[in-house]
Amino acid sequence: MAKRKKSDLRDRILELLKNTEVHPTAAWVFDRLRTEFPRVAVGTVYRNLNILVSEGLIKNISFNEPIERYDGNLSEHYHFICEECGSIRDINVPPLKTLENRIEKLLDADVTHHRIDFYGVCPTCKKKRKQS
Ligand code: ZN
Ligand code: MN
Repeated sequence: MAKRKKSDLRDRILELLKNTEVHPTAAWVFDRLRTEFPRVAVGTVYRNLNILVSEGLIKNISFNEPIERYDGNLSEHYHFICEECGSIRDINVPPLKTLENRIEKLLDADVTHHRIDFYGVCPTCKKKRKQS
């Protein structure tokens, strides 16, 4: 097998992020690439994820959470976070532009974007609750 370049790893990380909706951690990505890149450490995966973030190709969606989560979907959207299993899913409602305009007026500032995270119990965890 030909020796793989550093950029191959980053390309594969980006591809994984673009093709999943789980909003993965570095450990999740590492797990999926360990057979393909057996000599790569989880720290390298983490470093490459953050390079992709700084290049604007993916987003780091963590906010005070101890474990960072990444999103390959760059469109403006909201998230629902399950407080029991930690799953994060996209909420596809139109972004609240009128709210942005109100905040701009209120602060006399330029609002470039905003984020809203919803927290609760996901459908799967709700079912588990009922069973126990
Ligand atoms: Zn859940
Ligand atoms: Mn998302």
